[in-house]
Amino acid sequence: MADSTNFDFIYNPIKEKMRETVSHISYITYIEKLKPVDVDGRFIVLQTPNENFAQYITGTLADKMREAIIKADVGVSDFRLVVEGSNEYAYNPPAAEDNYTPPSNLDKKYTFDSFVVGKNNEFVYAAALNVAEDPAGTYNPLFIYGGTGLGKTHLMQAIANKVLAEKPNLKVIYVTCEQFVNEIIDTMFTSRGPDARDRGNKLRQHYRSADVLIIDDIQFIANKKAVQEEFFHTFNELVSKGKQIVISSDQPPKELTALEERLRTRFSGGLVFDILPPNFETKIAILKRKAFEKKCIVPDEVLTFLAQDSGDDVRTLEGRLTKVIFASKLHEVPITVTLAASALNEAVSEDGKEEITPDSIINAVCSYYNVTKGDLVGKCKKKELVQPRQICCYLMCELLSLPLMSIGKALGNRNHTTILYSRNKVEEMCQVNDRIAKDIDDIKNIVLKK
Ligand code: ADP
Ligand code: MG
Repeated sequence: MADSTNFDFIYNPIKEKMRETVSHISYITYIEKLKPVDVDGRFIVLQTPNENFAQYITGTLADKMREAIIKADVGVSDFRLVVEGSNEYAYNPPAAEDNYTPPSNLDKKYTFDSFVVGKNNEFVYAAALNVAEDPAGTYNPLFIYGGTGLGKTHLMQAIANKVLAEKPNLKVIYVTCEQFVNEIIDTMFTSRGPDARDRGNKLRQHYRSADVLIIDDIQFIANKKAVQEEFFHTFNELVSKGKQIVISSDQPPKELTALEERLRTRFSGGLVFDILPPNFETKIAILKRKAFEKKCIVPDEVLTFLAQDSGDDVRTLEGRLTKVIFASKLHEVPITVTLAASALNEAVSEDGKEEITPDSIINAVCSYYNVTKGDLVGKCKKKELVQPRQICCYLMCELLSLPLMSIGKALGNRNHTTILYSRNKVEEMCQVNDRIAKDIDDIKNIVLKK
């Protein structure tokens, strides 16, 4: 087992939290004597000098310990005990109950069930499903590449959602490469102060203790040598410990020329699958699925119309459907090809009408709630601003076929997690609050009539 000093930086903050909740005598007799010897997934492994000691911790202090671990926020969420000299865990907590709520950077709607399989993606789908069912089994590392809007993020998140739901003991990390790069740079290379090193270690430990590490859009790491170096070591450590890695990119490994050779070689050494644009039949199937999710019945001829000339990108295809459904609700007319044709023209500004843009939505929200744009996109947390801001997020997600990250940028440089949170929150509020649902309908009217 590794040298205990390696894990003090994780256990020390936990000890501090324990000091606040247990008696002084318990603290010096037990807590101080536990030795952190390993991190196993989301568990910190603590060594006890003997069996009785382990039993006391298990019987009397386990709940407090778990609470302290969560409060310390050091990248682990539970603990295991091992008696000195033994290789077996003396305490292995029961699996978490089935009330799992996914970390906020995962979208629950991205599942294998909601992913339409066609000739363009059947192999990558099978590989992703295999990884989710049997992490670190046959397909490791798994590398998925393909053009934008073809379902890479959907599949990667489906893996994360499935593993988390079915194997709650595993530590699953889904991260966009952009977020990974920013975290590494902020924490390891630009951070100063007495605890900078600790924070760097903590972050490194966070990634290196994953059972399944999923990094989306790896091309973002291009030309960032120091981050590539850090990632290279994380990658090697996880692979050598038999942990699963999943990576996506817009290009195959060998074409990622702005990446160091050794990383490209590592990626090519895994299982590489591409995801191609859907053919016409698959587009129709996807449209049907999306209409079903939106609880709408869309006639076949409209689906055909939407799939024709829609380009390759599924995101755009979905955006076309959303606009048509929206127009039908707005004008209270059935969904027909004529409506679809006019709805799509409405938004593409051919006849001089304004296009729906982030700004046109922001402006509509501002004028509706009588707030300034500066306030709406600003940081102030007053209630009069927070709700309009969340509604603005929601409308931007509904009406624009843009990635969450771009919406975040347009809305005062917020990160995609905040956008996702706001969208979900408003969706929930709409179900229970008629006034908000009506506000939203009114603002949609303003946006569309411009
Ligand atoms: P990428 O990450 O490749 O740019 P995304 O995974 O973000 O693409 O997909 C864009 C949108 O298209 C998402 O809403 C996703 O659910 C949808 N999508 C893509 N492919 C499929 C598919 N095969 N079945 C269902 N939805 C899909
Ligand atoms: Mg993506």
